Amino acid sequence: MLIKNGKVLIFENEDVKVEDLDIRIEDENISEIRNNIKEKENEKVIDAKDCVVMPGLINTHAHIAMSIFRGTFEGCNLYTWLHEKIWPIEAKLTDESVYDATMISILEMISTGTTCVNDHYFFSKQIRKAIEESGIRAVITRVLMDSDSEEESNKRIQEFIDLYETRDKENSLITYTVSPHGLYTCSGKLLEKSRELAVKYNLPIHVHFLESIDEIEDIKQTHGEEAINVLRKYFDGIHTILAHGVKLNDRDIEVLSNMDCGIVHNPISNMRLGCKIADITKYMKKGINVSLGTDGQGSGNNLDMFEAMKIAGLIQGGIHENEEKISAKDVIKMATINGAKIIGMEDKIGSIEEGKKADIIIVDISKNLNNIKMLPNNDIISNLVYNTDGRNVNTTIVNGKILMENRKFKKLEIEKILSKI
Ligand SMILES: [Zn+2]
Repeated sequence: MLIKNGKVLIFENEDVKVEDLDIRIEDENISEIRNNIKEKENEKVIDAKDCVVMPGLINTHAHIAMSIFRGTFEGCNLYTWLHEKIWPIEAKLTDESVYDATMISILEMISTGTTCVNDHYFFSKQIRKAIEESGIRAVITRVLMDSDSEEESNKRIQEFIDLYETRDKENSLITYTVSPHGLYTCSGKLLEKSRELAVKYNLPIHVHFLESIDEIEDIKQTHGEEAINVLRKYFDGIHTILAHGVKLNDRDIEVLSNMDCGIVHNPISNMRLGCKIADITKYMKKGINVSLGTDGQGSGNNLDMFEAMKIAGLIQGGIHENEEKISAKDVIKMATINGAKIIGMEDKIGSIEEGKKADIIIVDISKNLNNIKMLPNNDIISNLVYNTDGRNVNTTIVNGKILMENRKFKKLEIEKILSKI
């Protein structure tokens, strides 16, 4: 396949640039990037004139079966929402409802430019089934917690082991993490078990970490120690994906900058839940890798990573006055290459480079009414962050396969999925 005439977003050293280039894809991989590639006989050609061709977006923290919780949060805070709405409803979920709910999210992701998602949920075989059928790339898990009972906890551990052991080793599109829910919902014993599993299977840890102010005290109550010490005690030396990291103090930041970890910033969810704003400008200055996530739709409203980029770029100005803060280029990296790093896949995805997997999206920037917010297009990168939304994505390619072309789905039956809502 050949993508011609596009404006291609590339990373060069620390910089982000847009250049007129053609891209050849052979099987799963990007095989050639240069000017004026001649098409071969019978080669599929995508004309990307008046479009930006960029790496697929990587949503590094989501709960993709939670599409059905959209709009359930009004009038709650995080703890009352979890205890009174989410957990009671989750107790009634079925295999079928989780599969359907996941499919709705997959439709949302592919149509808004996400090519890879790092999920954090349960009913994971249903989630895996939906992911396999869709062709999207994903990191999945079976979330662990033991704040209810040891018996339930053991079942969850067994489900995770079963999920991992039954994986399709030929399917490189799906990888795994070990995911304790949070330090406030897991005992030391379970965190130790999580560590053991991560070492045994050589997998990263993916955990909620210091999302809200209440969590600080809860972790002290549960473990008799500060959150950062608990984290270091169980997960030092293991690659750890920390969702949120809103309530970090200077010492926490210092410790984290010396650990093998990264922080997933979920700005919309954090503000919606009244958890305040993570000072990611500071984290990044200290050398911590920060990527971007949407969280589930219950708290994050939707899975549109362009919306998350815009908010992430804007709100640092709400906490940093007259100071240097993250740029549009930083934000683009958070949603792509930083995301690839945090899930340990930066050698395969996250940028458009020869030899990498072809996870690519094509964004329409042509002069039409749909794009009026970005005209005149004086700065493409700024427009991608601040004036684009997922609906501007017209083509989504994962692992060299077109999942959506000119907003038409190739594989999924949209009407069937929509009818399940
Ligand atoms: Zn979450």
